Amino acid sequence: MDRVAYMFDSSKCMGCRGCQSVCKQWNDQKTDPTTFNGFYTNPPTLNPHTRMIINFYDDFTEKQNFNFLKYQCFHCGDPACVKACPSGALFQAENGIVAFDVNKCIACGYCHSACPFGIPQIGQVINKCDMCYSRVMEGSKSDETATPACVKACLGGALYFGKRDDLVKQGKEKVEILKKEGFTEANLYGENILGGLGVLSILKYEPEKYGLPKDPVFPVNTLIWKNIMHPLGLVMLGGAAGLVFLHRILQTGNKGGDQ
Ligand code: SF4
Ligand code: SF4
Repeated sequence: MDRVAYMFDSSKCMGCRGCQSVCKQWNDQKTDPTTFNGFYTNPPTLNPHTRMIINFYDDFTEKQNFNFLKYQCFHCGDPACVKACPSGALFQAENGIVAFDVNKCIACGYCHSACPFGIPQIGQVINKCDMCYSRVMEGSKSDETATPACVKACLGGALYFGKRDDLVKQGKEKVEILKKEGFTEANLYGENILGGLGVLSILKYEPEKYGLPKDPVFPVNTLIWKNIMHPLGLVMLGGAAGLVFLHRILQTGNKGGDQ
C-alpha cells in the first residue's frame, strides 16, 4: 500500500485558521475561551482538546511580515511514540498514518516524552492529529471524500493530500521556485528525518525560525525501553508467573501426599 501524506505550503497559507476550526469540528473537540496575550497563535499551544494549531510568526524579517506553520503530529515514518506506548494504543497503519485507539490508552504519557516534538497531549487519554484516519480509510459520509478535513477546508490552497512520493516531488519543485523568487533559505521540511515525515512542510525560511529542530533524532531512551527493558520486563513477568505456577503444583502435590 502506498504511503499517504499531506503537505503544508507556508507560502500559500494566509493564516485564516479554517483548518484549525474544521479540525475541532470534525473531531468533536471542545473550544477554549482565550484572551489576547500579545501573540496571534491561539490557543498558544496544543492541548488535550486541540490537535492542531496555526503558529504565527511576525519577526522573520525587518519589515513586519506574517509567516505561518501548521503544527500537529508529523506522522513520522519511524514513530517513537508508537515504540514507547506500552499498551498498544498508538499504532502505525499500513499507509503510514500514526493513529490511536483511546480505549487502549492508559494515559501514562510515555508517547509525549518520546516524541521529538512533544506532540501527544494527555488528558484523560491521548489526543493528537490522526490525519483523519477514519475519513481516509472509509471516506466521509457528510461530504463523500477520503481527504483529511483540514486539507478539504483550506481556502488558501496551502494543503495537499496524496501519495507521499508525489508530494515530495511536488514540494521540491516548489522549493526551487521559492529560491528563484529570492527565498534563499526555502526548504522542504520532513523529507528524510525520522523515517520521513508524513506531514511535509514547504518553508520559506530555516526550520529553526519556526521552532522546528533541523535534525531531530529518535530518542535513545525509547530504543532502550522498547528493545531491552520492555522485552526484559515481559521475560521477568513470565518467569514470575512460571514460579507461581510451579509453587501451586508443588503445593497441590504436597496436599495429595498428606491425605
Ligand atoms: S510527531 Fe510525535 S506523535 Fe507524531 S508520529 Fe512522530 S513521534 Fe508520534
Ligand atoms: S486553512 Fe489553509 S490558508 Fe487557512 S490557515 Fe489553514 S493552511 Fe492556512
